[in-house]
Amino acid sequence: MKINKLYLCTKFMQMLKKGNKLYSILTGSCPKCHQESMYLDQNPYHLGNLLKMNERCSHCSTKYKIEPSFFYGAMYVSYGVGIAFAVAAFVISFLIVGTTLVNTFIAIVATLIAFMPIIMRLSRNIWINLFMKYDPHAVKN
Ligand SMILES: [Zn+2]
Repeated sequence: MKINKLYLCTKFMQMLKKGNKLYSILTGSCPKCHQESMYLDQNPYHLGNLLKMNERCSHCSTKYKIEPSFFYGAMYVSYGVGIAFAVAAFVISFLIVGTTLVNTFIAIVATLIAFMPIIMRLSRNIWINLFMKYDPHAVKN
């Protein structure tokens, strides 16, 4: 069976709609209502505000930090996400571009440093989405 690119694209766009965990993970929005960002500053590259989060969602009043030091657990996720970025850097630089092993190593380290803010936020988003799920009735009118 031939895979239709348009079909895959449409499926992916459907997954990025509110109501899907992937939406909350990729946008950093409230895991329960998907209405607003959990972070005070939308741009992860403003390093001073990288991990500053709202305490509660202003739409559904979900408390993000479920328990003290809740987001320490995101370090476990961060390891996996970091490996994924490192493997991607390896594949692109060693297998596709064809650089030497030393240059590939440099590319991996540079990738991990350059994407560090994104990796940290993605890890937090994945971590909190492991514990909460979307609730269409979370926002009371
Ligand atoms: Zn919310």
